[in-house]
Amino acid sequence: MYIRKQRMLTPGPTPLYPPALHAMMASDIHHRTEEFRSIYKAALADLKEVFGTTNDVLCFTSSGTGALDASVSNLFRAGDKVIVCNAGKFGERWVEITKAYGLNVTELRMPYGDVVTPEMVEAALKAERGTKGVFIQASESSTGTQHDVESIGGLVRKTDAIFVVDAITGLGTMPLEIDNWGLDVVVGGSQKAFMIPPGLAFMSVSPRAWKMAETSDLPHYYFNLKKEKKNGDAGESSWTPATSLILALGEALKYIKSIGMSNVIRNAQLLAQATREASTELGLELFSKRPASSVTAIKSPAGMDSGVIVKGFKQKFGAIITNGQGSMKGEIFRLAHLGYFDFTDSFGIIAGLELILRANGHKVELGRGVAAVQRVYEAAQ
Ligand SMILES: *Cc1c(COP(=O)(O)O)cnc(C)c1O
Repeated sequence: MYIRKQRMLTPGPTPLYPPALHAMMASDIHHRTEEFRSIYKAALADLKEVFGTTNDVLCFTSSGTGALDASVSNLFRAGDKVIVCNAGKFGERWVEITKAYGLNVTELRMPYGDVVTPEMVEAALKAERGTKGVFIQASESSTGTQHDVESIGGLVRKTDAIFVVDAITGLGTMPLEIDNWGLDVVVGGSQKAFMIPPGLAFMSVSPRAWKMAETSDLPHYYFNLKKEKKNGDAGESSWTPATSLILALGEALKYIKSIGMSNVIRNAQLLAQATREASTELGLELFSKRPASSVTAIKSPAGMDSGVIVKGFKQKFGAIITNGQGSMKGEIFRLAHLGYFDFTDSFGIIAGLELILRANGHKVELGRGVAAVQRVYEAAQ
């Protein structure tokens, strides 16, 4: 028997930043006190800085989906025409949420691994006059795919629709110029590139989106954007917040600011590039036509169920990686890069992958994938 550290190498939850975890132990604090108000205010201000926007940024105690839900229930009217870009499991979630609230949904559906193109959105906006909103994933984590939100944002802002972006794995892994690109609503989640446990959702809201909140008639109670904004300005959360997570968030944001958000993004981009190059060296094929930097989806070699690779990581190295979801299960495995991942992680992950592939009969020259990661590291210095 030998030591195998537990490692969470998934695209959420992600590895935790230790000082943020330590900060959680100070949660014997009441949320309606000056002490907590100053912590919460600072966290909201840092969040806004890290989002890189002049729009309002709100925080909710919920997983990311809570804020996705809130963006629909607070901004739209029953029967509103909307366009949903759907190229994966999270795109399907947008379809389900918008339909659950009775919106009139035009779905732009593409196969897993592919993208909804700006041309498709342009054509749909032309065909569906009076569209009130366009929904998309910046990074579709289920397929490891990145959408061209800059181009699509440029098209949407020429209409009366608002652009609602699930950037839960997009934030901190790809540039998102919220103000310049017309990203009216941008949603993030604590357990992704923010390096802390699940339980907080973030959302930026543009003036255009606030205007829609004035006429929205859909039922909502817990998630109330206007109430959250008013309370947030006073350093409070509408309901009892997850104080421990907000303490962690404050610490993680300090760290992210010290590195710089652009470098956090660059870090994910480099690790993703290294993983793609290593995969090619190992004779593996990427699943995505437009790979994201949040997570790399790799096809399992012919004849090998990807579950074998997932299990290999767990059993041999104590590491949790993710299988494909839905019909992609067994076909792909996913290696994450968002948040608190570094090159040492990548050296180990690719070395482990080589050993697992070899043990299962895939021809691998040991060190070939690792050398690709090392070359990316050297080139980046
Ligand atoms: C993780 C994730 C979500 C949010 O899921 P929750 O479990 O509700 O936090 C939504 N969209 C994408 C693209 C994600 O990766």
